[in-house]
Amino acid sequence: MATKYIIVTGGVTSSLGKGIICASLGKLLEARGLSVTIQKLDPYINVDPGTMNPYEHGEVFVTDDGAETDLDLGHYERFLGVNTSQKNNVTTGRIYYDVINKEREGAYLGKTVQVVPHITDEIKSRVTALGETGEYDIIIVEVGGTVGDIEGLPYIEAMRQLRFDVGKKNTLSIHLTLVPYLKAAGELKTKPTQHSVKTIYEIGLQPDILVCRAEVPLEAGIRKKIAQFCNVDVEDVIASIDAESIYEVPLLMLDEGLDRRVIEKLDLDCTDVPELSKWEAFVKAVKYPKKQLRIGLIGKYVEHHDAYISIAESLIHAGAMNDAKVNISWIQSDEITPENVDKKLDGLHGILVAPGFGSRGIRGKITSVTYARTRRIPFFGICLGMQCAVIEFAREVCGMKKANSTEFDADTPYPVIDVMEDQRERLETGGTMRLGRFDCRLTKGTRSRKAYGKETISERHRHRYELNNTLRDKLAECGLIMAGVNPERDLVEIIEIQDHPWFVGVQFHPELKSKVTEPQPLFVDFVKASLDQVRHPETAKKIL
Ligand code: GLN
Repeated sequence: MATKYIIVTGGVTSSLGKGIICASLGKLLEARGLSVTIQKLDPYINVDPGTMNPYEHGEVFVTDDGAETDLDLGHYERFLGVNTSQKNNVTTGRIYYDVINKEREGAYLGKTVQVVPHITDEIKSRVTALGETGEYDIIIVEVGGTVGDIEGLPYIEAMRQLRFDVGKKNTLSIHLTLVPYLKAAGELKTKPTQHSVKTIYEIGLQPDILVCRAEVPLEAGIRKKIAQFCNVDVEDVIASIDAESIYEVPLLMLDEGLDRRVIEKLDLDCTDVPELSKWEAFVKAVKYPKKQLRIGLIGKYVEHHDAYISIAESLIHAGAMNDAKVNISWIQSDEITPENVDKKLDGLHGILVAPGFGSRGIRGKITSVTYARTRRIPFFGICLGMQCAVIEFAREVCGMKKANSTEFDADTPYPVIDVMEDQRERLETGGTMRLGRFDCRLTKGTRSRKAYGKETISERHRHRYELNNTLRDKLAECGLIMAGVNPERDLVEIIEIQDHPWFVGVQFHPELKSKVTEPQPLFVDFVKASLDQVRHPETAKKIL
């Protein structure tokens, strides 16, 4: 079977959940035995989102091969259970960067370099490159932005040409729109959808299927009207009603027959019934939890939950494994002081200190570590969270009073977190971060080793600083356990402390690998330990 391309565009407004629709459709096709991947085309000029503020863009999702990508790739991985790579995210910045470099190298043989055909060709080649790997039956291409945006035009044009290049029968165009409900009129309105479809028609990319986001169900009459005015069959008007959980969306799309329509139109050879039993069991566990607990997520971007989306989703996965609903208290690290910490963190069954860059909120994060350590509340420190735990331990347990990370104090007498010598050389050549997948060997007898149930693991990274190897022995002498070490560069990846219900800090980002069907082991164990606090609240209150 030739690789088929499903192009997904969005209209009317942004934030309609195109990424979730793509991931849901991918899941349904995968559940029928097809191999699927999803690619995101982002129309911004940054080469990647790594340079954007989390308030602006949300989380930067890092792939195994070290690409800094759009957070939608996280949804793709969590839904499909497969890994993505650099190839799965294309940005306008990357496209222009490569085209301009080629031009400088003389690759265009004296031609005038133009949006059409050079930019559009480059876009197409990124899409077909995934198909040419031969690994996939289906490539779902999510075109970022909203139809009508100036910066999206080259992408839509490239997709129009792609349909011609690989043959109409090998491509499908799905358009996601909004059908708003006007309370005052008491009805759903189809006009925005009509306009959006008209706009995309003008550019030449006719939708085969319309997925209509709506707050209330679409009656037959509305479906017929949309079909009639937008040139699709009534069965090709798919309603996507607001769901309680994003994980319900594949099941809702199954009920609406989205996958069935795709299979018919692309003439796909696959199983009749999708295998979704594990998924359904997961959704049931999410919707009807037997237990509840409360985890505090301490970070500096907490007003913008998308900045920590993979952490929040990992907690949902881990909660479902424990038959529990994890309620998250989003706590601004900036606002935590030694004076108010008791009040701010009261009632939490577990404390998670989030990743981050820069010094804002560090004091609050370190104060939270002290609270979790001394009150014996399960603590999970991720990346910067782990670094804060090391600083706190050095200051409070080892007596290194002014211990710090050189990220925050270049002159600290105890640089327990620092840039390592070999990384320093890399900084000079511009490769400033440790990015992507690295192995980690787990120390026997540790909590982490038990949670993973094996000796060697690999997790993804995105940071510059490390636990300082020159102070490692001193910290260990005071009781800090080096629970995981990267064998190639001898870097500490996990720390733990003894005599505590659960205290683990990780230099990597475990949240980037949690999947619905494969929840991340440390998150599962952290939630389990936090649930014990629900059962034994007195443990949490005991002061060392
Ligand atoms: N700022 C820290 C570093 O660069 C931690 C980064 C992170 O939390 N992702 O090492």
